[in-house]
Amino acid sequence: MQLQANIERPEEAARALAAGASGVGLFRTEFLFMNRRDLPGEDEQFEAYREAVAGMDGRPVTIRTLDVGADKSVPALRGSTPQNPALGQRAIRYCLAEPEVFLEQLRAILRASAFGSARLLLPMLAHSHEIDQALRLVELAREQLRKRGQSFDAAIAIGGMVEVPAAALTAGLFVRKLDFLSIGTNDLIQYTLAIDRSDHDVASLYEPFHPAVLRLIGMTIRTARKAGKPVAVCGEMAGDWAATHLLLGMGLTEFSMHPASLLRVKQEILRADTSRLAPRVTRLLAADDPLQVRALLARLVEDH
Ligand code: PEP
Ligand code: MG
Repeated sequence: MQLQANIERPEEAARALAAGASGVGLFRTEFLFMNRRDLPGEDEQFEAYREAVAGMDGRPVTIRTLDVGADKSVPALRGSTPQNPALGQRAIRYCLAEPEVFLEQLRAILRASAFGSARLLLPMLAHSHEIDQALRLVELAREQLRKRGQSFDAAIAIGGMVEVPAAALTAGLFVRKLDFLSIGTNDLIQYTLAIDRSDHDVASLYEPFHPAVLRLIGMTIRTARKAGKPVAVCGEMAGDWAATHLLLGMGLTEFSMHPASLLRVKQEILRADTSRLAPRVTRLLAADDPLQVRALLARLVEDH
């Protein structure tokens, strides 16, 4: 079982370590780009990533490439204002459209990988060609560093986030091309249920226990496990102890969450008998609606 931390700043790595995290499952790098007028250069990024990697003392640090757009606005990158920013040029879409910005970040992450155990995570993938393009750019960044004589971990693991239903439904293709998967439930819920995660008017419809969401999560975990590739959940659901039994029953062994949630989720994991959970969770996934899921889950946890 891996209990990892989500961090947004390099200095939070130390807090994660103190809270007992076995690694950083998600380092959101947007903080470096937000609340400023210019873009951080390669060296500034490198210093931040190196601090996080070194701060975790050899434990894995999963650095996510820039997830700009929608709820994460970056003044220096503001172009036209799209009608539907969550469906627009965000995250990997932006990075592939601006390869120089992306390459700068990739080089910085690769350079940091020489100082510990770093992993690289690509957000918001939906298409096979996005994975291919991103991997080509990682290779280009490696070549550029080799030419400069700068060291990096040549075997750095490269993973993809499953945040869009298309990614969950084609997880087989993702596990063939990537080293690991990380399920971002925050966006997966938003895109599966067509609910803007930042719109209060529809907040009551934002439902992590909707059977459609759960089936996509279950499908992704099953596919990754079958292929022998690591899979984590790094969205809010991983830190919600009410969902721990459910995720364990789906076969999840890697959870990444806010450090403050680690202890509570760990307690749930310690009192769970995963072999008994699996068949019951499979039945629960066939439920018709979230209410039924919650009722079945409550019963499951009670007599566990
Ligand atoms: C997610 O979508 O679940 C996720 C972890 O990414 P973010 O919340 O940063 O969009
Ligand atoms: Mg996301």
